[in-house]
Amino acid sequence: MLFRLLLLFLIVWFLLWILKKQFAPDEESSAPTSSDQSEDIIACHYCGIHAPKSSGLMYQGEFYCCREHAMLDEQEKS
Ligand SMILES: [Zn+2]
Repeated sequence: MLFRLLLLFLIVWFLLWILKKQFAPDEESSAPTSSDQSEDIIACHYCGIHAPKSSGLMYQGEFYCCREHAMLDEQEKS
């Protein structure tokens, strides 16, 4: 009896899991894409390469793809 209940519970849980997967694919698939879209792609002030804001750095109000380019640009300014 207990085994049957357990089996029933597992079947219900499995069905709910499938339903959840079928009815909420937008949430799962849109979550990473929306975060990608929300991330700003900015051109490096030195070399012009477009890079995500998180992968580069802001230096004196300008975006650079790497620390070296920030330093190089600073050297060329002075
Ligand atoms: Zn650069």
